Amino acid sequence: MKKITIAIDGFSSCGKSTMAKDLAKEIGYIYIDSGAMYRAVTLYSIRHGFFEPEGIDTDSLRKHMNQIHITFQLDPETNRPQTYLNGENVEKEIRTMEVSGKVSPISAIDFVREAMVAQQQEMGKAKGIVMDGRDIGTTVFPDAELKIFVTASPEIRAQRRYEELKEKGQEASFTEILANVKERDYIDQNRAVSPLRKADDAILLDNSQMTIAQQKEWLAEQFQKVTAQ
Ligand code: C5P
Repeated sequence: MKKITIAIDGFSSCGKSTMAKDLAKEIGYIYIDSGAMYRAVTLYSIRHGFFEPEGIDTDSLRKHMNQIHITFQLDPETNRPQTYLNGENVEKEIRTMEVSGKVSPISAIDFVREAMVAQQQEMGKAKGIVMDGRDIGTTVFPDAELKIFVTASPEIRAQRRYEELKEKGQEASFTEILANVKERDYIDQNRAVSPLRKADDAILLDNSQMTIAQQKEWLAEQFQKVTAQ
């Protein structure tokens, strides 16, 4: 069967990656978490001291951009994709509250987006890819055959994130997470370059009242519909 490109965009912590990952596994496509790439650039910037009290040292970050190499590899035991920053597995570190609190300003920088978008387009050249993020259907793959835009209320998203962190044994405060979710929504929707918005031809999914199994089934149906045409 001819392979297609699947773009899944939406607000933070609304279960995009869970559904994207599941679908990719089921249909034998590559899954790319584009948010992990912005998180890796953020981690790199923290480690190199680019976050200064006055703001981000964009001049230094710009000079370092071609030294930031992000790749993905499947963990052979869990079969889950792991994010590598210059060869180091940073999957756990990029999910901390510190990185979540700093990633939106990093991802609003034009040259960071240019570099990430170019890498993402390269990864999707052969199609057969499911990519999730904020601008996949609008900027990275505007010609994707299947585009989904996912949303849910901020409170529900914060609750899901809270439970996820707790499950991983990480420190978490619901109030802090809710504030972070709302702040990221605001920055992501209002930045000048590739702001978060639904592509005109994307299918809207509000999953506030859906279980993971229901979402999975819904997405599989959308895939069948597009590929049956
Ligand atoms: O998806 P995740 O929440 O891990 O993404 C982290 C952050 O990276 C988002 O809040 C957003 O600021 C940024 N991002 C982006 N464009 C993408 C994916 C993520 O700007 N395609």
